[in-house]
Amino acid sequence: MGKAFDIGLDSLVETGAGAGLGGPHTHNRPVGQAAEGNGQTFYLETFGCQMNEHDSEKVAGVLLARGYRQVASADAASVVLYNTCSIREKAAQKVFSRLGEWRPGLQSSKVSLVTSAIQNQETQDPGRNSEPAARLARTPRPALQNGKIIGVLGCVAQQEGEKIFARAPWVSLVCGSASYRKLPELIQELERGNRRVSGLDTDTEETFETEVTRRDNPWRAYLTIIEGCDKACSYCVVPFTRGPERSRTSASILEEVQQLAGAGYTEVQLLGQTVNSYKDPSARKMRFSELLVAVAEVPGIRRVRFTTSHPRDFGKDIVEAIEAVPAICEHVHLPVQSGSTRVLKAMARTYSREEYLDKIAMMHSAKRPISITTDLIVGFPGETEKEFAQTLSLLDLVQYDGAFCFKYSPRPNTPSLTMDDAIPEEEKSRRLAVLLQKQREIQRARNERLVGETFEVLVEGRSKKVNPSMVASNAADVRAGQWSGHTSSNKVVNFTSRAEESLGDYVRVRVTGATPNSLVGEVAEIARSARNDGTPFRK
Ligand code: SAM
Ligand code: SF4
Repeated sequence: MGKAFDIGLDSLVETGAGAGLGGPHTHNRPVGQAAEGNGQTFYLETFGCQMNEHDSEKVAGVLLARGYRQVASADAASVVLYNTCSIREKAAQKVFSRLGEWRPGLQSSKVSLVTSAIQNQETQDPGRNSEPAARLARTPRPALQNGKIIGVLGCVAQQEGEKIFARAPWVSLVCGSASYRKLPELIQELERGNRRVSGLDTDTEETFETEVTRRDNPWRAYLTIIEGCDKACSYCVVPFTRGPERSRTSASILEEVQQLAGAGYTEVQLLGQTVNSYKDPSARKMRFSELLVAVAEVPGIRRVRFTTSHPRDFGKDIVEAIEAVPAICEHVHLPVQSGSTRVLKAMARTYSREEYLDKIAMMHSAKRPISITTDLIVGFPGETEKEFAQTLSLLDLVQYDGAFCFKYSPRPNTPSLTMDDAIPEEEKSRRLAVLLQKQREIQRARNERLVGETFEVLVEGRSKKVNPSMVASNAADVRAGQWSGHTSSNKVVNFTSRAEESLGDYVRVRVTGATPNSLVGEVAEIARSARNDGTPFRK
């Protein structure tokens, strides 16, 4: 990778989203480069997971480096890009609904394609493109600008490919995440007047590294270390939409972390669909756990997070790294999906309930408390009531600190699409409600146990929630002193302080209350000289 550098959102983007955050950026920004640009503007909307969010940061970096300027509204942009998600049907539908808003000829109308759009697509004549009138919902929208480029990026682009052009002929660019390396060339073709371009290869050996990444968060930097997925879970589109696994070299990762630390970032989050399946392609052959330690040892880095871990590749060495190095955050996201070995087998998850519980036992007996979160799917084809009950009992055993729970969604090209014994939608909804309620009770109890303890919290923003104890003690301070941030264990803490805190600082917060999803507290003592190289956070 060449010399990577960051662009702070506040200096180049008119969204205002990052403005005034007072982030610690003092590093080189290619402001001149952007200012000399061609005057074109872009709007980028992201759907889906953290990896998509970070891909968007990289896409924005590519465009800013080419002289484009980012704007906050699609109407004001000459290029409108949607970075899409197709993990579940609903997510994909949202994208087609957005695209419908740009249908030409509806100058004063916004068209939303109804939810069955993608499902029906397979059976429609791809050249026709006409949605029956009854399936369109219209609301006012300003006139379509002449020459606006509409582009679809990410998983829906990869999955639907050039069929998108047939379905929405006003789209000019279709590019899957495995082809993002080609984005600058594709954009160049559009600038030369080409009407339609696409990048849909998935057999690339390359990872999507850019020379410029526009980072949205001034103290937490996301870094993709492995792209794609070689697992073949029977319900999942990711192996089709993101292609095979490709890891970055440990040297290029560490070089970028050093640059990030130099630029003032204190928290680094390593990303990958299966981040712990990382395989260093260089001769150094650094293991994932060694990489975690090496990143944590970079001077200036105070917190290292990583997500998502696959249970098959989760070993004792990762737990030992967390135990040994305080900068590696005490949180592991380890999706289980189901508590039934039979269902796990049908999902092709490559582990049994017992094997998963062995990994959990390693964390439960660790020298540092490790917060564990997970993903769960209910209503997989053939899931019996007894098998669902096994998922509920797994919750009792693991005691997760958080869980993302989903109803099974049949996806194109996946093996589970053709499996028998589909679970009716109402039954899936019932199981989901039961699961959510149980997990909520577990989280409430776990969080309540933390009342009275003190944690280090990164000050990330002003809290909208009001601490009741503060209201009782001094009403005048209530609004001024509400802050929020995360603990190392990734718990959200809404806390009060009588001092004017600085965003990006680390403070010690005593927990005074708990809800299922967050903690409430007050600043106990401020630790301002605690970078791991001993230098103060604020100069
Ligand atoms: N790679 C991660 C892993 O192995 O667990 C997960 C990545 S996936 C983007 C995030 C979550 O979406 C999965 O863990 C799963 O719970 C959920 N998911 C994926 N496909 C799904 C489907 N067809 N229906 C419902 N949920 C799904
Ligand atoms: Fe999808 Fe399974 Fe790969 Fe996760 S490990 S991205 S669920 S195929």
